[in-house]
Amino acid sequence: MTSGYRGRFAPSPTGPLHAGSLVAALACWLDARAHGGRWLVRIEDVDRPRCPPGMDEVILGQLAALGLLPDEAPVWQSRRGTLYQAALDRLIASGRAYGCACTRAEIAALAGPRPRHGELVYPGTCRRGTGGRPVRAWRLRVEGRIDWQDRRLGPQSQDLETEVGDFVLKRADGLWAYQLAVVVDDAAQGITDVVRGEDLADNTPRQIALQRALGLPTPRYLHTPLVLAPDGHKLSKQNGAQALDLADPPARLREAAMALGLPLPPVCASVGETLAAALALWPGRLEVSRF
Ligand code: GLU
Repeated sequence: MTSGYRGRFAPSPTGPLHAGSLVAALACWLDARAHGGRWLVRIEDVDRPRCPPGMDEVILGQLAALGLLPDEAPVWQSRRGTLYQAALDRLIASGRAYGCACTRAEIAALAGPRPRHGELVYPGTCRRGTGGRPVRAWRLRVEGRIDWQDRRLGPQSQDLETEVGDFVLKRADGLWAYQLAVVVDDAAQGITDVVRGEDLADNTPRQIALQRALGLPTPRYLHTPLVLAPDGHKLSKQNGAQALDLADPPARLREAAMALGLPLPPVCASVGETLAAALALWPGRLEVSRF
């Protein structure tokens, strides 16, 4: 079967894959396969200081051991700065992006709480210029509310102006912000479907705002259930999630499939068998219409 579907797994190589990131990887692989689509891997290493050397290859090796092989050569965000700069230049030219001179301390003094992959809610100090102070970071001027649809979570809405504020596209340290890189790359790679962990759902309105500001299409979104650590918090590299033990890859795939609510038969001897069994159960499994 051929289709226009293009999905991607986009790990930040700050540490090896763990049980939580495998759930997201498996979900987007299954969704691409179930749609007769293509599955890509993008290494999101824009935040270089947080990415230990060689961790990208560790992750690609883990995916290969689990039978999750990309259909095209992986791309590395650290090599794509020219694309991000071109997008920022367009946003500056259209008046949507502006330079900001505020320090973190100045913003913290005025702002509210901060979301993941986010910044403090920016009070808009530099919207009408920096008053001659040097530009430190570049921000997107946001407007109003974004309504969007998640395949699993249903209708979603966020007021960008009050809940997020004008967010950073290029950081004061010169690094590209996740939001800009992900939007530019999803469009450049022709991604039609984003399938990723639910912890990233609250980034989606910012990404849709950026897509609209750049005249880019909005993909469909499916945010998958999170794997929780025994303490009830999200399993993450930050709270010490263990790297996957790949002595038994089918067992790891089976656990990830169970976390996605796929009741696999008790014995799947090989990676191929496990993936095939999960694929047979996947279509529509997480879609909102089932609940
Ligand atoms: N690189 C991001 C992360 O690992 C995921 C980005 C995405 O899937 O949009 O948190």
